[in-house]
Amino acid sequence: MDRRTFIKMAVISSAGTLYKSKIASARGIPSKVFDSTAGGRCYVPPAKGVIETSLTDMFKIGPGPSSSHTVAPLRISSNFLKALEDLTKDLMENAQSIQVELFGSLSATGKGHRTDRAILAGLMGQKPETCDPKLMNELGDTTRRYTTTISGKTFEVSKDIIVWGKIEHDYPFANTMIMRLVGKDGATLFEREYYSTGGGFFHWKGQPAPARGKPLRPFGSMAEFKRLAQESNKTLHEIILENEKAIMNVREDEVLAHLDLVLKTMEDGVTQGLAEEGLLPAPFKFYRKAKRIHECSKNANVADGFMQQMSSYALAGSEGNAAGRLGITAPTLGSAGTMPALVYVMKHHLKLSQDAMRKGLLAAGLVGFLCKNNASVAGAEVGCQGEIGVASSMAAAMISYATGSSLEVTELAATIALEHHLGMSCDPVGGLVLIPCIERNAFGAIKAYNAYLLATNEIASQHWEDLDRVIMAMHETGIAMPTMFKEMGTGGLGVTMVDC
Ligand code: SF4
Repeated sequence: MDRRTFIKMAVISSAGTLYKSKIASARGIPSKVFDSTAGGRCYVPPAKGVIETSLTDMFKIGPGPSSSHTVAPLRISSNFLKALEDLTKDLMENAQSIQVELFGSLSATGKGHRTDRAILAGLMGQKPETCDPKLMNELGDTTRRYTTTISGKTFEVSKDIIVWGKIEHDYPFANTMIMRLVGKDGATLFEREYYSTGGGFFHWKGQPAPARGKPLRPFGSMAEFKRLAQESNKTLHEIILENEKAIMNVREDEVLAHLDLVLKTMEDGVTQGLAEEGLLPAPFKFYRKAKRIHECSKNANVADGFMQQMSSYALAGSEGNAAGRLGITAPTLGSAGTMPALVYVMKHHLKLSQDAMRKGLLAAGLVGFLCKNNASVAGAEVGCQGEIGVASSMAAAMISYATGSSLEVTELAATIALEHHLGMSCDPVGGLVLIPCIERNAFGAIKAYNAYLLATNEIASQHWEDLDRVIMAMHETGIAMPTMFKEMGTGGLGVTMVDC
């Protein structure tokens, strides 16, 4: 293409952009504007039903590096252990061994994500929120044999009980895990087919509905939530608090105590990460950098210094996660540095009160609920847009609401942050939560902060995009994304960064 043609095309293209920006003065673009491109297909609001996820489901404590590949398998094997304890004496007397079969991304990248160690730890009675990091490290030694005693019977717990099954499969969820109790004759005595659905969530085939309450103010989308807020004359944080109390049947002070624990764990993770240096556990030399970047920020100008500091907070949280430390799923552990970076900024830079930070966390919870309910927060289902993208969106909502923004502006901040992560694949090198995950948290935090700045400085009613539509776009993009880019370690950086 010659220079003249290039300039001509650039002029035409910018004229098109100008035209679009001119019509972008209100929400709900009429489809007739895009006769040739919309293909007659218009937006259909999410119809996934009422959200019944609780804040304690969303913000869980567990060991890194991955909520879907570490926390959920630990919770699953802990659940299986409990199920075995409830079996009849006769059945247990006939039992010989426990077998675990992994499918999909759990099988493809489970070793790098410590899935095997989490399963063994769960069978040995460990719980995610108190899991001993020392034991998790020791379980990496595959030559060692451990045992667990269930209803008076002793079973071997070692790498030999794990079968790394098919990566491509027909189970209804990408991350499937089957746990079996095997008899002396090799027959299966008891079995559960579990699904790890992202963010440490799991359920099993045929699971009865959990016995818990219904939300006091039901909603399934942001549009419904806004209507609800208007009709009830309630604020965002009041609605989320009321629903939490009704779903979990708890008092308000108990909900607030959980929020405080989440905020403190996030802040402590950053503080600890900023003090650490050296290598992270990996089969190649991978150095921590949070401390160094934080120290360099002290000699930088104000603008660069703040960017460096915020990045260092996200890196600190994420490096701790990669080292297997206990963290908070927000929405996942792969994204364990993004929200903590903004929590640290809110507390140490903006000096917000605890009450304001709690309200911000409730706004983050709302965004996480919507993304989980109407799309997914699992890298194995929708790529990294569902992890870092959602974390960034939650963080943007959190800081906006905590600093006093309206519901509309808070939604706008969440929308902008998520929109600019659309299409991001999940391509961890070697199946480890190192490259690109750790730096992605820094970018997720920076985008969240920028989304907050954009949203709080523009006129919200003039912005076209809304959260429901962007979540829907994330879902559609995720479904269309090739499997190799969904936490398989077989596409993108997961391939190009490895020398043959
Ligand atoms: S690339 Fe993103 S989605 Fe994939 S493991 Fe890393 S943080 Fe999670």
